Amino acid sequence: MKLIEQDKNESFNIDEPIWISPNGNLLDIEIDAKFDLQKIKNAYPNLWRYEDAIAINQQDGIVSLNEGFTAIEKIKLNGKEIYIKHEQLFSTGSYKDRGATTLISKAKQLGVKKIVQDSSGNAGCAIAAYAAKAQINCEIYLPENTSNSKISQMLAYGARINKIKGDRNATSIAAWKAAKNIYYASHCYNPWFFEGTKTFAFEVCEQLGWKSPDSVVLPAGNGTLIIGCYIGFSQLLKAGIIHQMPKIIAVQTETCCPLYDAFFDTNNSDNNYSSNTIAEGIAIINAPRAEQILNAVKETKGTFIKVNEVEIKDAWIKIAAMGNYIEPTSAATIAGLEKYIQGSLDQTIVSLFSGHGLKSKSLI
Ligand SMILES: *Cc1c(COP(=O)(O)O)cnc(C)c1O
Repeated sequence: MKLIEQDKNESFNIDEPIWISPNGNLLDIEIDAKFDLQKIKNAYPNLWRYEDAIAINQQDGIVSLNEGFTAIEKIKLNGKEIYIKHEQLFSTGSYKDRGATTLISKAKQLGVKKIVQDSSGNAGCAIAAYAAKAQINCEIYLPENTSNSKISQMLAYGARINKIKGDRNATSIAAWKAAKNIYYASHCYNPWFFEGTKTFAFEVCEQLGWKSPDSVVLPAGNGTLIIGCYIGFSQLLKAGIIHQMPKIIAVQTETCCPLYDAFFDTNNSDNNYSSNTIAEGIAIINAPRAEQILNAVKETKGTFIKVNEVEIKDAWIKIAAMGNYIEPTSAATIAGLEKYIQGSLDQTIVSLFSGHGLKSKSLI
């Protein structure tokens, strides 16, 4: 097990308290993931059932809210059967708990006493909750216009909030500065976050009878789930559990689709992307791991799909009419899923409800 520096291939001990290389390059975690199917079958139904495939030793103590192994449900959408993971049912209301449990567990094992994070939404809530459980001091940087319900949630967990004037980028810069002296629990940079999001792939595979789906339809903002899925399915492939990678289908909104444009080589020289969308959670203009996201989609022979505001709202209404109250950001993925299944002959398609609706405004 080691930390590998992107582009340089230099490696570091996994017990180094770093989240980026000394040269400023992104880090990934290398592990020889093991899957003992009998042992897993008998293990407790949370994401730590895959402990031999996670680079964190449970014996050394983990910070857990009993997260993961979310239900997978077969639903009928526009006449087709689709598997949906209920990722809105995590303790803090989104799948970000997957990454928070591994990142904060690692921080705790490293003896970290204080962390800093920047997020206007669910990642901040998840990191704040797990920091509370770990009794680690947590400081969150937010853009001034962050929704009140999410700020209240972070405050309830005991996080300290710093509101930053200006756009999201100004917030990132402020957090980056603070991270010079404080451990950066970033869901975009810190590789330990992806050690958790990859368990989405493990669960899907196990819940389908240790088989790979043909495709997974996922949101694309900072790509924490896309990169997690790519890592997870790659490790299952390498271990001989599955024999083919699922295609990764990535969904963005028309107002903010820099990765879509990069994928199709669209010349958008104005770069006039806006976070003015009801799917604010994926309105990310500069994803730090953009290259990694594009590679994951390319290598799995997947594609990008973009959706407009009307399509997102319609998807949200359709899903609510089936009894599921999801965050508008989550409805963007479902709108993309509806477009994808129109033209695809894939037999097994998996997607998700990424966040719970109770945190955000109703769309009707
Ligand atoms: C974080 C999040 C997303 C998008 O995830 P990225 O990692 O930014 O690609 C989608 N939906 C919800 C509810 C989220 O919290």
